Amino acid sequence: MTISATTLEGSRTNVNDADIASLRSNVRGELVVAGDARYDEARRVWNGNVDRRPGLIVRCTGAADVQQAVNFARSLGLLVSIRGGGHSAPGYGTNEGGLVIDLSPMRSVLVSADARTAHVAAGAWGAHVDAATQKHALATTLGQISNTGVAGLTLGGGFGWLSRRFGLACDNLMSVELVTADGKVRRVSERDEPDLFWAIRGGGGNFGVATSFDYRLHPLNPTVLAGHVDFPAAQVKDAIEFYVALIASAPRELSVDLSLEFNDDGEPGAQIYVVYSGDANSGGKVLEPLQRFGKPIKNTIAPTSYLAVQMWSDPPPIDPKHHYLKGGFVREYSSGLIKLLADEIRPDNQSSIYCQNANGAVADMPQTATAFSHRNAIANMMLLCQWSEPSQDEPGRAAARAKWSKLASFTDGYYVNLNDADPKGTDGNYGANFSRMATLKKQFDPMNLFRLNANIRPA
Ligand SMILES: Cc1cc2nc3c(=O)[nH]c(=O)nc-3n(C[C@H](O)[C@H](O)[C@H](O)COP(=O)(O)OP(=O)(O)OC[C@H]3O[C@@H](n4cnc5c(N)ncnc54)[C@H](O)[C@@H]3O)c2cc1C
Repeated sequence: MTISATTLEGSRTNVNDADIASLRSNVRGELVVAGDARYDEARRVWNGNVDRRPGLIVRCTGAADVQQAVNFARSLGLLVSIRGGGHSAPGYGTNEGGLVIDLSPMRSVLVSADARTAHVAAGAWGAHVDAATQKHALATTLGQISNTGVAGLTLGGGFGWLSRRFGLACDNLMSVELVTADGKVRRVSERDEPDLFWAIRGGGGNFGVATSFDYRLHPLNPTVLAGHVDFPAAQVKDAIEFYVALIASAPRELSVDLSLEFNDDGEPGAQIYVVYSGDANSGGKVLEPLQRFGKPIKNTIAPTSYLAVQMWSDPPPIDPKHHYLKGGFVREYSSGLIKLLADEIRPDNQSSIYCQNANGAVADMPQTATAFSHRNAIANMMLLCQWSEPSQDEPGRAAARAKWSKLASFTDGYYVNLNDADPKGTDGNYGANFSRMATLKKQFDPMNLFRLNANIRPA
């Protein structure tokens, strides 16, 4: 069988029977192509509106399979996607007609409780890592959705309930096994390949395929004080102002997020989400002002298992809903932004706003210490949109862009893990780090094999 596949330049090329047979016999994992019984299952990713049909899906079982897939794609000039958890909203983990390096069969997590480290295979979700580390009352920063892949999340930065306390997920990396575009397997750490180690902490999938991660772990009580307090429409502005004051004075053990969405009563409102991960006794005192504030219609703050908190907002791992996200970093909640959020950008049945906390330990590192450069933001503000009908895709995206255009001027840079590709390129978003990244991209991926991401063009 010959497959008509997409090339890096977007043209078509025939991949012949002999090439397919050779790849199939050279990998230990499965090679799935159109027509195979498992093709439809293997090609699906999280976002329901990403319905693409790759030419070849290599379901890798280890670094050797990844090497084979990288060498195959490079020698034939095929378009490549790297798929960790498949959770990218724009669908970078798949493509139309090219080759997908699928790491989802690789999900093992090995915890060394004494050394406080976790060795994690690159197809693991947050849920797999949290479950293994919390058995030892340990944790590292991961995202707020438990079925997100740790790979994409960590390489782009990695915000979560613990980032104010322990830094970003990428700040807790000790080393990574990486297959670069030349097919070499490299150990990348502060000591080995330090330039690459710098670049992959924020540079996403631009520099190679990570096959495993070694994370630093921290003691974390399996029970945290957590919940949300929901305020009705009449108190939205007050609630936003209270939230702004609370994050300004919050200790690092306290994470505070703001959501503007419908309350249980079906009316638009404001919800303040908190997770206090420090000592249980001091948590009560820290949260006292919030417990006393305003006239909320709901308050769920209670001792809660950290694992349950990590699953609070989980969508299905393969979601039939169509999602569209826009985001940007907030450096300051100016009165203009507060007014816009309180009075103009109302949640509706298709969209909500979520401000995820940043700052704290994230800001401890200098801006040039890793490729991730947005260290002095206080929040990652997101417009989250969703609908069910494919006919809503175009009007839904247009409405989202119109809403976002009002908020964008209050943001400075964006989180590469959320947005779809910026037609103006990624240069400005990496600030002072960009030219070093472009030079390293040229050194390690001169043909831009890994381009389905917030792409850094080789210098
Ligand atoms: C509903 C929702 C909630 C989210 N919440 C958070 C959150 O709380 N905190 C946060 O920080 N982010 C959050 N994100 C963003 C999340 O970090 C990204 O979607 C991330 O890319 C997901 O990683 P993945 O491996 O599942 O993605 P995939 O779709 O598999 O891959 C996405 C990108 O990562 C790269 N990549 C994936 N695996 C590898 C690998 N092994 N080697 C090299 N490159 C790789 C790919 O090239 C691709 O560009 C959220 C996203 C959504 C949709």
